Order: sequence, then C-alpha cells, then structure tokens
Amino acid sequence: MPLVTTTEMFRRAHEGKYGIGAFNFDNFDVMRAILRAADNLKAPVIIMVSSGAWKFMNPLYIRAFCDIAAKEFPNAEFALHLDHGKTVEICKQAVDAGFTSVIIDASALPYEENIKATKEVVEYAHARGVVVESELGAIAGIEDDVNVDDKYGCFTHPDEAVDFVKRTGIDSLAIAIGTAHGAYKFKPGTKPTLRFDILDEIEAKLPGFPLVLHGASSVPQDALALVNKYGGNMPAAIGIPESMLEEACKRGVGKINVGTDLRVAFTGQLRKVEAEHPEAYELRTLFTPGLEAITALVESKIKGYLKSEGKAVI
Ligand SMILES: [Zn+2]
Repeated sequence: MPLVTTTEMFRRAHEGKYGIGAFNFDNFDVMRAILRAADNLKAPVIIMVSSGAWKFMNPLYIRAFCDIAAKEFPNAEFALHLDHGKTVEICKQAVDAGFTSVIIDASALPYEENIKATKEVVEYAHARGVVVESELGAIAGIEDDVNVDDKYGCFTHPDEAVDFVKRTGIDSLAIAIGTAHGAYKFKPGTKPTLRFDILDEIEAKLPGFPLVLHGASSVPQDALALVNKYGGNMPAAIGIPESMLEEACKRGVGKINVGTDLRVAFTGQLRKVEAEHPEAYELRTLFTPGLEAITALVESKIKGYLKSEGKAVI
C-alpha cells in the first residue's frame, strides 16, 4: 500500500495495546529487508532515517525508493520517518522530500526553546500532511540519573509532558523512562530497569496519546555472540529485555525504536560469511545472510513483544 502517516496505526495500536516497530535503515537493502518482514506478516511498521543515514543515502532517492518498495511489499503498511532531526531545517527538508513523519529533537535545548522549535516544525509539517514527534527528557541511561532529590531525575516529567503536548500540537511524544541509545544501555552487572511508574503517570495524564520509546533495542545475545565469535569486539553489550518492552506497549507506548539490533544481526552474519568464505568477494554472497537475519529479527519482534502481526490495514 502507499506510504501513510502514523496517525491511524498509532490509534489502532493503542486500542489493541500492541506496539508499532520503528526500525532504522542505512541503505536500501536494509529498508527492503525490514519491509519484507512487515509484508510477510501483514504488519504496520515505521522505517526510520537518521541524519547520518540521510546523508549516506541522499534524500533524493529515499522517498522514490520507498514508493517502489510499496509496490514490492503490498501487504506492509508503513510510514517513512526522519529520526532525530536536530534542526528545524532538516525537518522541513524531510517534509519536502516526502517523509510522512519527522521528529524534531530539540530536547537538549532549554524547555521554552524546545517548544518554539517544535511548534515551528508542527506548523510546517501539518500544513503538508506530515506528522511530528518530539522529545522531552534525556534519553540516556540509568547511570545518568544522578539527581536523587528529584523523583523524575532526568526522565520525562508527566506535568511537563502535558504542557508540552498542549502547547506544541505534536502528534507523538518520545519519553525518557530509562532506555538508552546504542548497544551499551546498562552497566555490566546492573539490572535493566525502566521507570514504569513514570510511564503510568504520563499515560494517565495523556490517555491515548502516542508515546514513543527510543533506544529500545534488546541486543539479542545470540546475534552478539556471533559478532564476538568471528573477530568482533562488542563485549558486554546489554539491551532492554523484550518482556519489558512488551510491558511498555501494554501500558500505552505505541512506537518502539530499534536500530542497534538490526546492525548487530547484520554484522554478525557478515563476519561469519567472511570468516567461513575468505575467498568470497561478491557483494551478494557477503550481504545476503545479514539481510536475511534482519528480516528474521524484525519478524520475531513483530510476532513477539510488539504483537502487531496481521494488524496492517491494506
Ligand atoms: Zn532515538
């Protein structure tokens, strides 16, 4: 089906208490590997382009290739999202380039400046039929939450979330409750923790409003073991247990962002094929196992904790 915005898929996900997987891609092979999984399982999915990937792929190609992918994968319902738009300008460029969703990530700015930047993007995007996510709080790691005097620390404050949504007119909100970007989310030996108490407070104050978890890779240990077995050096990478992500979806999170897991899955397979076939230099030989691993991983998440299999509206 043609590309959509996230509005309808978020509404259905909240109603059904399941999650929409949002997956980063860095090239068009990976984009197809993700959409193949969504197509196989008739699932709604969001595919995301970071600002690094935006430059790497060249935005001239991105929407055009997505339109072609929509023909290849007619059973996938999908949105094309700019991930971590750090400036108003890049968000506007993504809207103009045919993205159906953008995030303005001005969360590092003072609160009022975050509101100002977000409002500007909302105004521009909404006038062109594009939806906007914004971010509040610091999505880092639990070790960064050093302010013991404040219950909320650097996490998203529920009252601020209400004010922010009201004043900006955004369509979804990325909240900080303990997830972190990258492969090393928690210190070795510590227990992964998400602040479900804060999530519940936000959900109670903004019932039904689409909430987003960034940095929600689970870092599957079998994929990680493959990387390390074949010469990689990723010791002690730790992600969010999938049972916690499932719990988050039940408690109102609608979008789960995953980038690291796909990269780890691909890299492990690439290392393996290179180690086992040192004579190989053909890109198709080298890349195919990694791409198949990405499709399998996305399928396992859709069928597993996201529970979004068969939820696409075609
Ligand atoms: Zn993120």
